Amino acid sequence: MDHAINLAKQAMEMTAIWQAARALIQEQLAPPVFDMWIKPLRLGRAEDPQRIEILASNDFSASYVRDHYGALLTTAFTSALGQGARLLFQVDPDPPARQVEESPATPTPTGARFGVDGRYTFENFVVGSCNQFAHAAAARVADAPATAYNPLYIQGGVGLGKTHLLHAIGNALLRARPESKTLYITSEKFMTQLVDSLRFKQVHNFKENFRSVDVLLVDDIQFIAGKKATQEEFFHTFNALQEANKQIVISSDSYPGEIEHLEERLRSRFSQGLVADIHPPDLETRMAILKKKAALEGMELSDDVAFFLAEAIQSNVRELEGALIRVFLLASLEKEPVTLSLVRESLRGTLRRGEPRLLSMEKIIETVAAYYKIRPLDIRSSKRARRFSHPRQVAMFLCKQLTKASYPEIAREFGDRNHTTVLYAVDKIASSQQVDVDLEQAVSTLAGMLRK
Ligand code: ADP
Ligand code: MG
Repeated sequence: MDHAINLAKQAMEMTAIWQAARALIQEQLAPPVFDMWIKPLRLGRAEDPQRIEILASNDFSASYVRDHYGALLTTAFTSALGQGARLLFQVDPDPPARQVEESPATPTPTGARFGVDGRYTFENFVVGSCNQFAHAAAARVADAPATAYNPLYIQGGVGLGKTHLLHAIGNALLRARPESKTLYITSEKFMTQLVDSLRFKQVHNFKENFRSVDVLLVDDIQFIAGKKATQEEFFHTFNALQEANKQIVISSDSYPGEIEHLEERLRSRFSQGLVADIHPPDLETRMAILKKKAALEGMELSDDVAFFLAEAIQSNVRELEGALIRVFLLASLEKEPVTLSLVRESLRGTLRRGEPRLLSMEKIIETVAAYYKIRPLDIRSSKRARRFSHPRQVAMFLCKQLTKASYPEIAREFGDRNHTTVLYAVDKIASSQQVDVDLEQAVSTLAGMLRK
């Protein structure tokens, strides 16, 4: 009996560890990559850390994930588990039923929850000055679709709540108007479904499916850039919906004008309605988000702990969430309350237990951008205004100081510039620092944040 209880407990802990490992990986992969390869995986038998089964839906996925993400998954497991882990990638003998969203070619009952994730609601969304505009626009659209802004275009950096707002609109609509058809889809899925429909000669079904919706929520539209056939089809879908007075909501990491290799006619369609942007959250909002997430988990978070975490993690909400999950996990594993010292331990733990974390230039760019309240995109751009060029030079300087990258490598990371530009920037920041106290302060704060 005791044995059975122990096994059950162990299984529960393993599930928590699997969730923590996934959260760690989610921080490191682009959302579409994560959604495509990691999200569908299931945890299989896992009594022995040296034989943890990871189940994929088919042979191809299993070997692809093993080859491409095997090391990353193993590291995440090792880090979440606090000890070495060995993963076995296998085909799921009992795969969960495919989601409706994945097979739109089948007839679609009205009011179904097409792709809309019930966890992301307006109630769970914390409003701060960074996102209040986008939130208000989204709420308005959910309230009265196709009357005010069409399309609504939500722009914001990684992990700042775009996907959350899209689902929130979907959930609100499904609740208030269960008879209307609201469909959430990522632009990548739109593309793969289009490709599939061409392959299986079901283009008609594909078109029908998208043109029969009342509200279309398209996430991460930037991924259709450069995809000719997909842009073409999306353009026609867009027009058909707009003509029928249906609502379209789009999210992207860039403004319409900034997406490269996007057809002009789409660019102009996207700018026709309202473009609402989301900025990185300030300290207060980060604390409020932590408290809300904790409450959703049924946990309580004291002010000092919330403050400490919100100070330590500034880049985006997804990372903030990842840190919170690790804290809760550690608390449950060690059977301790969530205190400041436990939080310190959990943050340190992720650095110590994981692979020696190499600081990426991407991370530096993200951090510097957040610090100066601009977007990573602006840092990589060639915009000359000082509010962009100064942070860019600081970021170049930090890349040189904190990574092993060479001047040409840094130049490449910053939008393929000439490496003399980097040389100049590094030199300039190094010497200005000597005389400019504010700059010196900024550089050391940033370096401190990045070394954490
Ligand atoms: P994006 O799509 O912009 O990359 P997401 O919408 O996926 O970001 O957000 C990442 C995570 O952060 C999600 O779990 C989301 O619930 C959470 N999040 C982001 N912004 C907020 C917010 N203002 N309030 C509550 N949770 C948020
Ligand atoms: Mg997203």
